[in-house]
Amino acid sequence: MMEFSCSCMQKHHSIPTETIEVSEHAIGKVAEILKGYHRIFLVADENTWKVAGKRAAELLEAAGMLSHTLVLPSPALPNAESVGRVLMDAGRDRDVYDICAFSRNPDYILAVGSGSVNDTCRMVSYRLGIPYGVAGTAPSMDGYASVVAPLLNGKKKIVYNCTIARHIIIDLSVNREAPYPLLLSGIGDMIGKYIAILDWEISRDRNGEYYCDTIADMVLKATDQCLDVAPSLENRDMTAIRATSEGLILSGQCIAYCGSSRPASGTEHMIGQTWEVMDVEEGKVPNLHGIEVGEGTFAAIEIFRKLYRETADAHVKGLIEKYLPHFDRIEALQGTLKLPFTVTDRARFVEGILRGRTFRDRYTILQYLFDEGKLEAYAEAVYDTVMDRYFYRTFREQFPEWKA
Ligand SMILES: [Zn+2]
Ligand SMILES: [Zn+2]
Repeated sequence: MMEFSCSCMQKHHSIPTETIEVSEHAIGKVAEILKGYHRIFLVADENTWKVAGKRAAELLEAAGMLSHTLVLPSPALPNAESVGRVLMDAGRDRDVYDICAFSRNPDYILAVGSGSVNDTCRMVSYRLGIPYGVAGTAPSMDGYASVVAPLLNGKKKIVYNCTIARHIIIDLSVNREAPYPLLLSGIGDMIGKYIAILDWEISRDRNGEYYCDTIADMVLKATDQCLDVAPSLENRDMTAIRATSEGLILSGQCIAYCGSSRPASGTEHMIGQTWEVMDVEEGKVPNLHGIEVGEGTFAAIEIFRKLYRETADAHVKGLIEKYLPHFDRIEALQGTLKLPFTVTDRARFVEGILRGRTFRDRYTILQYLFDEGKLEAYAEAVYDTVMDRYFYRTFREQFPEWKA
């Protein structure tokens, strides 16, 4: 259990996470960290099995703690099919088969992977009432410590409230070898946090929504930490890998402390996730979460900058003003990092903004502009600015071989 007292309305924040181990050879400690469990069900996909799953399984087996393993085909998607497969494989019929009883569950689920495997296992853990943990393989998103699982269900992406990992094991030597698109995805997921906090502040002041200063500050600190080192990620600098991994975990922890993704997900996520869903609706495999969110962040920045220039609402203008230096910093960082884009078509870009407003029940600047009758005009105008200022190349142009 991790906890702290707070001056906000909740007064106290706690999460059931027992261990967060971020170190160069963290996988080697897996049996020690999970001591006390005896029937661990390890879930990986073909890629994560090779880089960490196999070794973790061997160590758990040697310690007499492994029940069995499941290796999902790569790329594993965070969808109903993956959840179904993990659920069906969770028990071992050869242990107990009794028509008068139920199958015997494992006592722990260990997800080896990043976004997809983790979200899938988090849902199964929640539904079966079995604790789970994650051995992360890439600093690609902030969901390691998160309480929610965004899962594809049919043609919809639904954010389910689930449970929180009891143990988070991040082996930096594994993270360091992660494919470069995943590293970029991690940064893309983080640059939008300023937008998320700004949206939260606006909703606090307009709607009286609950807000926690401490959690907001923690998220901003985690974001600064990731942005400071982002330019060194390409060289796989270990300090940068560590700072990014820790920043992403801290952001996810804040989601858990808050009990909702509000501190880490605003306009940029609503836009990016709408683009993800549009792909799903068209039967395509969605692009990397953080890449979509990164592009959504540029859209959100330009929406806020335009509103700042034009609005007569002094209060909102004052709130935006605090974040302008962060926006400048992200724009400068994009000049170095050149995060690739997935959406370059005008109609699709605009649709992401318009539909993004109702992606979930959350008040953001998109709703504010809609209420003012300005959302469409903003979406059209922002497209031109974003393409002009932030676009270098598409994801496909940069990574033609990428499979997910
Ligand atoms: Zn608080
Ligand atoms: Zn995210």
